[in-house]
Amino acid sequence: MTREAELRRLLAEVFRWTYLKNLTTTMGGNASVRLDEETILITPSGMPKHMIKPANIVKMKLDGTVQGPGKPSSEWRMHVEIYKTRDDVRAVLHVHSPHVIALYEAGYKLDIDIVELKAYVGPTIPEVGYLTPGSQELAEAVARALRPRNVNAVILRGHGIVTVGSNIFEALNRAEVIDQAAYITILRNMLTGEK
Ligand code: 13P
Ligand code: ZN
Repeated sequence: MTREAELRRLLAEVFRWTYLKNLTTTMGGNASVRLDEETILITPSGMPKHMIKPANIVKMKLDGTVQGPGKPSSEWRMHVEIYKTRDDVRAVLHVHSPHVIALYEAGYKLDIDIVELKAYVGPTIPEVGYLTPGSQELAEAVARALRPRNVNAVILRGHGIVTVGSNIFEALNRAEVIDQAAYITILRNMLTGEK
């Protein structure tokens, strides 16, 4: 199997797990991996996420040109801006974590002192205010927030999260850890009656 074929298979499979783990809905979220310095593989737009097959993954250049069949995710600008900003990033994942959205919209934040969060994600998780999904404005705001190399995740207010990694498993683990930390914080606040 070529490296491209292997990455297509991995991307389709790992992204299906995000759906099965309730990190996103049937049509929500997207993911990409870096194929080489100028090229990425990205999930297609508007397709049920658990149905994506390796052949449906779209190949595109960082200048925005699509190579071959398929329509890239409507968030391709965000993925491209991140890869252009961070040459260490090899994978980008965007999901609509319900726990994170609920936590932030209720006026709380992630507690960075939750052990797994600090260990796997990093010392800070910046947030970006609500911006139109798929817009260049959102793409640039997220890439700007990810500029420091110790930042590996961003909260998109009212929308979801973006995580990055040196491979797709690292990006997936970060999304899971963040979703779980948000869930823990919600449960803790409910149990302690914190307002
Ligand atoms: P796509 O199906 O185009 O990737 O859009 C899903 C999404 O989450 C937009 O923010
Ligand atoms: Zn989205």
